[in-house]
Amino acid sequence: MSKYWSPIVSKLKPYVPGEQPRIANLVKLNTNECPYGPSEKVLDAIAAAASSDLRLYPDPLALKLRQAIAVRYGVTAEEVFVGNGSDEVLAHIFAGLLKHDAPLLYPDISYSFYSTYARLFEIDTVEIPLSDRFEIDLADYDRPCGAIILPNPNAPTGIALPLADIERLVASHPDQPVVIDEAYVDFGGQSAAELVSKYENLLVVQTFSKSRALAGLRVGFAIGQRPLIEALERVKDSFNSYPLGRPAQAGAIAAIEDEAWFEDTRAKIIASRDRLTAELTARGFEVLPSSANFVFARHPGHRGETLMKALRERAVLVRHFAKPRISDFLRITIGTDAECARLIEALDEIL
Ligand code: PMP
Repeated sequence: MSKYWSPIVSKLKPYVPGEQPRIANLVKLNTNECPYGPSEKVLDAIAAAASSDLRLYPDPLALKLRQAIAVRYGVTAEEVFVGNGSDEVLAHIFAGLLKHDAPLLYPDISYSFYSTYARLFEIDTVEIPLSDRFEIDLADYDRPCGAIILPNPNAPTGIALPLADIERLVASHPDQPVVIDEAYVDFGGQSAAELVSKYENLLVVQTFSKSRALAGLRVGFAIGQRPLIEALERVKDSFNSYPLGRPAQAGAIAAIEDEAWFEDTRAKIIASRDRLTAELTARGFEVLPSSANFVFARHPGHRGETLMKALRERAVLVRHFAKPRISDFLRITIGTDAECARLIEALDEIL
């Protein structure tokens, strides 16, 4: 606290990201990164962009990248907004699309950034509890509100809603923006991008950080009809009209065009997830049905925090959340098969 701080900053509870420690031989399964490096084509494109052209500003409209994303998702470039990671896209959504006189609805439990941004932008919220089975029950969203945001699949549970349910939600709130955060959709969910042409209140947010292995490049995007995208552009242009640097634009174009790498990688991660789920279940864990690149699991005989610490002592990092309802759970990112084997070995010592 300082006398120089604004009242908003004094009230903020900043988001605390998963730790990035430097421990030798660490198995890092705590921040849902991709265990495999990005496509060679992406590395080549970034290397080519790292030339004397870096003296030039990037395309402020990121038109080629938006065009490439548009082709991939069957929309137009004008219906695509890009930013430095989906977190920045979400920030623009909070600043540009959410009202101050009606609450934003989102699930409790969900991506904890939503409450951080809501405080920053002074937006009222109603957090809607998950069901006993940790599912989002959309009947609970049938109430007056200013907007709705939910991740599909949800985080950190990994549980996905079918597209038909998302469509019903969007159709039943024609006067409110409905934002579907699809950070993990490529690992088993169904994207709502195909509904964008039908619903002017739908905004779909995705990221290159997970299924395209580019968390370090910082690229995210939103797909929606013009009125919603225009609001994000207004916010962007009020800060800084360069959404992404040259290497990020070039790398992201190569990533979205390398469908073979994408299919191969997500298939490997889904197969590893199925194997890890079976291994954990065999050891007494309850594993929620995951459509993401992580599993959310608890063991009836061991506290989540104790397990997390015991794993850390064995150089295996997983995520634990202190929130009472989920404090017994561990969120475990799907690693390579060798990393998953190290996790299981460590658990066999602990359990
Ligand atoms: N949404 C959800 C649900 C997430 O879990 C994450 C990753 N922490 C993000 C958005 C943001 O990812 P990025 O900024 O790397 O695109």
